Amino acid sequence: MFFKEIAGKESVKKSLIKAVDNGRIPHAQLFLGKEGFGALPMALAYASYIQCQERVDADSCGVCSNCIKSHKFIHPDIHFSFPVVKSGDKKRSDTTSDDFLPKWREILKTNPDMNTSDWLQHIDADNNLPNINVKECNDIMHKLNMMSFESDNKILIMWLPEYLLNEGNRLLKLIEEPTDNTFIILVAENQDMILQTILSRCQLVKIPAYENYEISNFLVKKYGIHQDQALQFANLADGNINAAMNIAKNEATDYSEMLISWLRVAYKSDAVEINEWIKGISEMDKDEQKNFFEYGLHFFRQYLFRMMTKSENVQLTSKEMDVAAKMEKIINTSKAEVIIKLINDSIENINRNINLRIMLFSDTLTIGQELRNN
Ligand SMILES: [Zn+2]
Repeated sequence: MFFKEIAGKESVKKSLIKAVDNGRIPHAQLFLGKEGFGALPMALAYASYIQCQERVDADSCGVCSNCIKSHKFIHPDIHFSFPVVKSGDKKRSDTTSDDFLPKWREILKTNPDMNTSDWLQHIDADNNLPNINVKECNDIMHKLNMMSFESDNKILIMWLPEYLLNEGNRLLKLIEEPTDNTFIILVAENQDMILQTILSRCQLVKIPAYENYEISNFLVKKYGIHQDQALQFANLADGNINAAMNIAKNEATDYSEMLISWLRVAYKSDAVEINEWIKGISEMDKDEQKNFFEYGLHFFRQYLFRMMTKSENVQLTSKEMDVAAKMEKIINTSKAEVIIKLINDSIENINRNINLRIMLFSDTLTIGQELRNN
């Protein structure tokens, strides 16, 4: 990550850069910013800057051997720690961030501004509560006590130390008496949930909300939308760039219309109509296709939750609520579960570059059978 990829926040960048340039990097820092305020991207840009061998124009160069690795989040001297859940057959107590590193790198590449629920969804956490456990803390101490591999500096970026709970005390010694050239960067959203003993030992770097104009400029660049519209989205987002991106994405393509037309086509199961629908989605780029299926997953999960709990407290827009109410006559909970599983598989298959047309044709027929089945 480059500093220049982060919208605005010039004074924070300036003071971080100055500390590095003057060789006065604090041993332990707490980057504190609410969800979507850019604290994690800032920590990533900062870590790349610290490791870079050819810093230029107040940023990392992006081409030196350290940058090549740090920008891909694979630098052996930049360690990551973050809340996780159980992984596969491993016991929870044996599971650490390292088990999720590929997923972590994946999400950092696409959305370093993600929030906790984006992350948990990304690792299929289901209802498991995430945390940062004892083994993780012990591993961190071990890693930071080793010699560095490829650069002079060792860095730990810990995202959401709120999830350390009392294990945090294990890290105190490390924070208090760090080994030489070891820098600890904690990236937190909620100061109240961090152990006081840790807080008092870290230098605080406050990450302010994005200004509306910073968000709107960013949206214009990223999505090519009109400045006025971008500003409207920014106004809705309350300084949270992740929220702004979600709004912009959903406004640009009406996924709910697409989803309804898919179900309609599936119900009829007319080959010509199915092909026509598939043609439409085939013309979208891969990210958009994924967004569509992610949207479908989101919709049906909320739909199922609403059906099972009878709660109106679900994350659906009023238009989607209307659609959900109408669907209830046709799609019961077990049918919804089948559709959710199918969509989930589709997302995995898209990631595996499987032939989309063939996959969608058979998925559509399966959904059709399911819908017509009494
Ligand atoms: Zn560099």
